[in-house]
Amino acid sequence: MNEQLKYDQEDLASLLEKVKKQGIAFLDAIEDRPTSVITPKLSTLPLNENGFGGESTLELFNQRFEKIMVAATGPRYWGYVVGGATPAAIMGDWLATIYDQNPQAIAGQGDVSALIEIETIQLILDLFGLPNDFSGGFVTGATMSNFTCLAVARQWFGKQQGKDFAKDGISEKIRIFSAVPHSSTIKSLSMLGIGSNNFEQVPVLAGNREAIDLEALELQIASLVGQPFILITSAGTVNTVDFDDFVAIEKLRQKYKFWWHIDAAFGAFAACSPAYKHLVKGWETADSITIDCHKWLNVPYENAVFLIKEKYQRLQVETFQNSNAPYLGDPQENFNFLNFLPENSRRLRALPVWFSLKAYGKKGYREIVENAVDLAKQLGTFVENDSNFELLAPVRLNTVCFTLAGAENQNKVVDFLSKVNATAKVFMTPTVYNGKKGIRAAFVNWRTTSGDVDMVIEVLKNLKT
Ligand SMILES: *Cc1c(COP(=O)(O)O)cnc(C)c1O
Repeated sequence: MNEQLKYDQEDLASLLEKVKKQGIAFLDAIEDRPTSVITPKLSTLPLNENGFGGESTLELFNQRFEKIMVAATGPRYWGYVVGGATPAAIMGDWLATIYDQNPQAIAGQGDVSALIEIETIQLILDLFGLPNDFSGGFVTGATMSNFTCLAVARQWFGKQQGKDFAKDGISEKIRIFSAVPHSSTIKSLSMLGIGSNNFEQVPVLAGNREAIDLEALELQIASLVGQPFILITSAGTVNTVDFDDFVAIEKLRQKYKFWWHIDAAFGAFAACSPAYKHLVKGWETADSITIDCHKWLNVPYENAVFLIKEKYQRLQVETFQNSNAPYLGDPQENFNFLNFLPENSRRLRALPVWFSLKAYGKKGYREIVENAVDLAKQLGTFVENDSNFELLAPVRLNTVCFTLAGAENQNKVVDFLSKVNATAKVFMTPTVYNGKKGIRAAFVNWRTTSGDVDMVIEVLKNLKT
């Protein structure tokens, strides 16, 4: 055995103790950690011939990177949709590393980690009140979840015309409708060989909405004269957290033949609260749903699930099978995750989710969700009442989309946001909505309190132009 490895093996308890101490120190002081830094120019150091060993490597990391690690997991990181990590999620994530399993087969040889994954999918269905006719799995993020769902939709579309796109490639134009698809959906279309230009835009409802105008959609469907299509809908658009009308979409299913996908990356969490679950009413009849776990579920990156109706398992396996690996058995007969989703080998991503769901239960998540929405409303109320700012859309759930008041200030928005972020007390991201430059604040972190919102309101007041 290599001598550094041998040394570290013997020293493991002390190495992990150091990491634990450092981790606790970081998290205990997360409130004071800057939310952004001016990234220094770092020169890349070459790989050394002899390793430094774990302890010196930790020192090297601390010397070079630790100080510039920002509080992305802290309470005032409101850019994009960035969740934190609950204590139990960290426990599960550490253990996923320690046990280092690769969830694949359920029955037969190998380990039981696939069973943990299946049990965790069941917990996810329970959390959202979804029926058991979905099966699912863990991927790295909502991008890969959208990709996975749309890959099976693509196979379904081919099958409607007797084609096997997974085997033979795409030979027909795939008809796809969507109103406000997330950028990752468009990226999935290019990765799937469908082409990012090849989706057909559906108009949205009038009146500051981002939801599908269903009458307009029906006109578009009529032009297909009975051809199948794929409909991509939203539970929570990024700018204004709008939801499509799932009850009405379900009704369309009686008239038309389509694959129905819902991107519910963070909007799914509306289902955790009696106050907001009406937003996803009717979603249980969709063919596929994308849900991110590293956002509102508050588990560490990289974590998301896809849910696809179990009746499509055959299509799903056709899409993802390793068909030229005889040692893996017949992919249609022996369930194995590696024939079910994009990756072959994966870490046990289910474990942090399993830990956090078991530790905090339905009530814990209801409170995380309701707290985030309350905080978005708190910031929204300030924006509405302060003459220097204006809302670009009503606060529908957990995001505030706002800008500087007055058309004459449009050219100052980017600079203003830079100044706000430069305080390092809060981090928000720019956007464009309805042709206006704006700022987005998304609330999903379990740590955030109304004191945090007050602190940011002070920052906004002090820096107003
Ligand atoms: C964040 C997000 C995605 C992409 O998710 P990643 O986890 O970054 O891959 C897709 N759709 C929606 C609606 C999102 O909010």
